[in-house]
This record gives sequence, structure tokens and C-alpha cells, in this order.
Amino acid sequence: MKKAFVTGWPIKHSKSPMLHGFWLKQYGIKGSYEAKGVEPENFEQFLKDLPTSEFVGGNVTIPHKEAAFANVDQLDEAAKAIGAVNTLWLEDGKLCGGNTDAYGFSANMDQFAPEWREGKKAIVLGAGGAARAIIYAVLEAGFKEVHIVNRTLERAENLATLFGANCKAHPWDGLQDLLSQTDFIVNTTSIGMAGSDASMMPDLSTLPKSAIVTDIVYTPLETPFLKSANALGLKTVDGLGMLLHQAVPGFEKWFGLRPEVTDELRDYILGLSS
Ligand code: NAP
Repeated sequence: MKKAFVTGWPIKHSKSPMLHGFWLKQYGIKGSYEAKGVEPENFEQFLKDLPTSEFVGGNVTIPHKEAAFANVDQLDEAAKAIGAVNTLWLEDGKLCGGNTDAYGFSANMDQFAPEWREGKKAIVLGAGGAARAIIYAVLEAGFKEVHIVNRTLERAENLATLFGANCKAHPWDGLQDLLSQTDFIVNTTSIGMAGSDASMMPDLSTLPKSAIVTDIVYTPLETPFLKSANALGLKTVDGLGMLLHQAVPGFEKWFGLRPEVTDELRDYILGLSS
């Protein structure tokens, strides 16, 4: 029986065991996928032990994504560009690390707003860990200008330097001037959520009517950011599909079958208490 895992610290809120468990059951595969909490100080040893362990691979989440990047034998192109690993598998005894977050993001957009790829100018709100995968995905999709807007300008500048000439960094108060020229905007921050500073919530009314708006935060499914875009009649895509699609390549590597992201799966994950 093939066994896979998701590791993080803490790990109990992860929806990945339910997601992969759904597919294992749906396809009648004799396999398992379990949550394994590993404390940061034990993570390197956990990776060293993997090739001789009972596992064929697994997912890596916060706070281990950068440590996994630094400690695997081989990286895929996305992981190299993003600087973080979220998927591990074994190949000829070697520990391989990939990043499927950018794939998941793009696949979600392709499913619900395939015309997003026609855009030229994008705004990415936020410059944290997840923003790296989003910037990579947006550049891969062919955008010519990617504007990274972040509360802490320095973090946006670091990402703009990392990802090259098509990217520009802006402070938060530079956002309003960019909106009227934008085809696509993605939020990766907690703006508008409980506990955040309400004054930072942007006024999206100057976005072109054709602009596409998405959020990678999916709890709640309609975030305050998406709600304000919906109220303006703009096309929006929620972030749940990114979570579902990013799981596809790992499942295929570990269990040998490419699973489908269906409405049934989406409804099942939505129905789980958070
Ligand atoms: P992170 O590394 O902690 O980065 C957080 C980002 O949000 C930073 O840019 C931070 O700005 C900004 N921020 C935080 N609070 C803010 C506020 N009140 N106002 C404005 N900006 C604020 O987090 P992350 O790993 O990038 O994850 C971000 C979110 O994406 C999380 O909610 C996570 O669950 C979600 N996510 C979803 C998926 C999916 O599959 N849909 C995948 C990955 C992550 P500063 O730099 O100024 O602190």
C-alpha cells in the first residue's frame, strides 16, 4: 500500500488529508494520506529519513516549505524559481521537491476565467510566501507587466528583483494609480478580513470593466476583496480551486493516476468545517 503525507507545524487545520482521501476513495486506490506534524528542529532529519521510510512522498506546508527547498536532492523548475517546495517524491532513491502552487493557481484561473491569459498588466497584492508562486504563474501566463504592491515595500522590492524586469514594486498607497490600467488583480493578503486595518481595503471602482479579480484566500469563499469586486459587477474567481488543483500533480506522482477536480470534490471540501 502506498502511503503519502502532509507535513507542517502545526498541521491539524490542513484540508489535504480530506482532499487526497476523497480521491483515494473515489478511485478505489489502496493507499493512505496522513497529516504528520513535524517540529521545525526535526524537519531536516525527517527529510533524511524519507528515502528509507514507509512513505512514497508527500506535501510540505508552513513553516517547512523553505527548509524543504534547501534540503532535497533535486528541484523542479517551479520550485527553483519560487524558492519553496510543497511536494516531495522519490525517484531512484533521490528525494525530489517541486512546487505545485503556481500550477494550482493557473489551473483554477483556466477553469473559471480562461481569458485571464489574454491580459498584459497584472497587480499582485502581497509579497509573502504565496505571492512568489503567484508572480511566477502570472509571468508564465505571459503578462508583460506585474506590479507587486505590499504594505512593507521592501518585501515587494525583493520579489521584483528576484523575478526580473517585468516586475515593479509599489507601496500600498501606489495602488490606486495602477488600477485603471490593470487587466488582472490577485490578492494574497488578509486585507478586509477581521482584525485587519479597514483603511487598507482598496477602492476597486477604477478598474476597467473587463478586469478579472481573484483572491487566493478562500476562507470565507467570498472574501471582502472579492465581495467589493462582485458589487462592481467585475468577473471574480475564488481561491478554493487553487487548493484543489495544486494537489493534482502530487497525487499523480504518488498513486499513479491523475485525479480530477470536480464539483463534487469542491462541494465536499466546502462542506468541511474549517
Ligand atoms: P505570508 O507569507 O505571511 O504573507 C502575508 C502577506 O500579507 C504579506 O505580503 C503581508 O504584508 C500581507 N498582509 C498581512 N496582513 C495584512 C494586512 N492587514 N493588510 C495588508 N497586507 C497584509 O502569508 P502567505 O504564505 O503568503 O499566505 C497568504 C494567504 O494565502 C494565506 O491566507 C494563505 O492561507 C493563502 N494561501 C492560499 C492558497 C490556496 O491554495 N488558495 C495557497 C497558499 C496560501 P507585509 O509584508 O507588509 O507583512
